[in-house]
Amino acid sequence: MRTAIETAAGVASGELSAVDVVEESLGVIADRDDEIHAFNTVVAERAREAAAGIDSRIANGEDVGPLAGVPIALKDNMCTSGIDTTCSSRILEGWKPPYDGTVVQKLAAAGAVLVGKTNLDEFAMGSSTENSAFGPTRNPLDPSLVPGGSSGGSAAAVAANMVPLSFGSDTGGSIRQPAALCGTVGLKPTYGAVSRYGLIAFASSLDQIGPFTSTVADAAVAFEAVAGFDPRDSTSIPEPVPSAVDALGAGAAGLRVGVISELMGEGIEGFEPDVLARTREAADALAAAGATVEEVSLPSMIYGLSAYYLIAPAEASSNLARYDGVRYGNRVTEGSSTADMMIATRTAGFGPEVKRRIMLGTYALSAGYYDAFYGKAQRVRTLILNDFNAAYEKFDVLLSPTSPCVAFPFGAKSDPLTMYLNDVCTIPSNLAGHPAISVPFRTGAGGLPVGVQILGPLLGEAAIFRAAAVLEAAA
Ligand code: GLN
Repeated sequence: MRTAIETAAGVASGELSAVDVVEESLGVIADRDDEIHAFNTVVAERAREAAAGIDSRIANGEDVGPLAGVPIALKDNMCTSGIDTTCSSRILEGWKPPYDGTVVQKLAAAGAVLVGKTNLDEFAMGSSTENSAFGPTRNPLDPSLVPGGSSGGSAAAVAANMVPLSFGSDTGGSIRQPAALCGTVGLKPTYGAVSRYGLIAFASSLDQIGPFTSTVADAAVAFEAVAGFDPRDSTSIPEPVPSAVDALGAGAAGLRVGVISELMGEGIEGFEPDVLARTREAADALAAAGATVEEVSLPSMIYGLSAYYLIAPAEASSNLARYDGVRYGNRVTEGSSTADMMIATRTAGFGPEVKRRIMLGTYALSAGYYDAFYGKAQRVRTLILNDFNAAYEKFDVLLSPTSPCVAFPFGAKSDPLTMYLNDVCTIPSNLAGHPAISVPFRTGAGGLPVGVQILGPLLGEAAIFRAAAVLEAAA
């Protein structure tokens, strides 16, 4: 399949028609999505109309933007005006937002054509897309395996060549981990670099939107298309966002790379040997390209998981209070009181993992436990940030596996704690607000793709793209 860059160049020059490109994309979806279930909703007619509009503007000599005619898919937790936005939850089934999120608007302005909304773990809570109320997504590389999560549908849509570009959200790894398991590139930008206006909140101090692509260059272009200050997101960064595209050809000469000891199986167990071996090879590849590579210890890394699984549920318990059958959510009427109605609505509307998170979060925030759990987790968060800041005085980027394992079978991690352990490498950057990218780097057990993670400091996207391009070439 053509990359996003190739598609946009072809459409802009008139060599390709946007209508044909979108038809191709819809054809692959029709062929494969009954099995894969990457999509919750496909908006074929809207996509055809949008593509025809792009073609006629190009025929009129207009510049339609850097993503001219590129078919895209969006995780079904991003508000799209008049198009179902469900978070893969029964409680929002059939809900059509009255507005487009900022990212949705920016992508349309860049010439991209929305073909549909992708499946996810309900409210983005999970690491395998098995928690969707509408059934799981399958990994296009092997349908007996999970695609990762929570943005499993977006990862699968790119891996199955349904679209060259999709977007997900990453609260604790939900872009990078499915990217790794499906063999695509996945970027979690700096917190505040991409507006979250119109992204349905899970954990507001952690959530970020970012792209899935088949190449590093596509990810750079996609990032630049959606990044930038937005007055409608109070956490948006007012400074200009660094250029990722300009960094692509810079090479690794002189780049200072630190390999995080704690995420290389020292101190944290459960890493597959192949995954560690590929990560070491990636470090060697950067060294061969002229980078200086050293191991570095970030001792607080091992507490990231515990801190995250208090902070994220705490924020979720507050964010999800709005689904009560009055403000939002499909109402179930039962009993004679408003309270009975709300209980019935939430009991019927939320799946087991969402309920678990709400209970964990409510508990962690309750009087008498707040200091011991939530307060302590916030102090751990500061320690993690301090460790990162100390490391970035010596290094431009850090390196680790993205996921401790390759794609796994359905049901293999059925107890919640085992599933949570999958996020050990990705969570620290969310807690710090730092950017990180997963790049496919060769294969591990069963010939399945391994993702290597490159982490950078605040607004360090240029450095991570520099390293990512080198790894892609070496892979
Ligand atoms: N797997 C993590 C969780 O379940 C991360 C999810 C995400 O990034 N949205 O919370």
